[in-house]
Amino acid sequence: MQRILQPGEIESLDRTTLPRVRLPQPASLFADRAARLAQKAEGNPIGDYLRFLAQLVKAQQRAAASVQTAAPDAALIAQAQEHSMPLLPAASHIDPAWQGVLDQLIDAALQAPALPGALAPVLQALRAMPQDDRDNLARRVLVGVLADQQDLAAAPLVMAALQVVFADRASRLQESDIPYTDPATICPVCGSAPVASVLRIGGREAGLRYLHCGCCGTEWHMVRIKCSHCESTRGVRYQGLQSQGSDDKDEVVLAETCDQCHTYRKIANQEKDPLAEPLADDLATLLLDLLMSETPYARASMNPLLPMSEAEEGAAP
Ligand SMILES: [Zn+2]
Ligand SMILES: [Zn+2]
Repeated sequence: MQRILQPGEIESLDRTTLPRVRLPQPASLFADRAARLAQKAEGNPIGDYLRFLAQLVKAQQRAAASVQTAAPDAALIAQAQEHSMPLLPAASHIDPAWQGVLDQLIDAALQAPALPGALAPVLQALRAMPQDDRDNLARRVLVGVLADQQDLAAAPLVMAALQVVFADRASRLQESDIPYTDPATICPVCGSAPVASVLRIGGREAGLRYLHCGCCGTEWHMVRIKCSHCESTRGVRYQGLQSQGSDDKDEVVLAETCDQCHTYRKIANQEKDPLAEPLADDLATLLLDLLMSETPYARASMNPLLPMSEAEEGAAP
């Protein structure tokens, strides 16, 4: 016999059919990303750098297995929900465990066979830096205000360490802890910008589009064909590269452009390639950014593992 669902039941039904948030599982997040970077390095114009990043992300995976960060705080969760604010705005919630993670990543990077030569002195300087200076550097990197070229060169390593601690903290939250933020274009956990979005396959997430946080790796749902920067649903279009050796468009990664705010952000489609990973696929398609630099659309946010300042984003790398 059928019966009419009560409002509370409809809500809980909604929640079970559509996962609003996908909290990161650091072990698989970093393992999948490292594998994808290594795969996409083959024949890529920045293949050497992608190979180095694959080794760095492997080191993130090892660090994530042992890192100890602060437990979820019920008062903080209640406050964030009340004000529709991100739970742990990144620049003011840097877990002290990040220092040890940074040391681990520096050691691993210095031993990585694919380490770019120019990066070695940057890593040595980071290792010798006093903890307070490192904390200040981390805050500058998170708010996107870099002091000089040295900051810029160190930013990917700093972000890599922060990703490990923020992913760990995010992984210990429950979906019901996560506030609905306004705007919906920033990460509801750490307030950072999405690096890209992803159309997922499998289970309850099949065919849904998620924005992927460049810092903590949390993914949050946003309907398709909506600007992930200004939330406009008008004037959203897609541009892609030609596939190699064919007239078809490569549909795994497209640039989603918006005529309202004149920005673009990439969308990785797992229906076209089940191994697509938003952060790795964004890096592996720098040619698309090159193409986009000749259009009126500016990149909406940077890739945290690429040493490129906000001001340079519109320009070709
Ligand atoms: Zn986040
Ligand atoms: Zn827009």
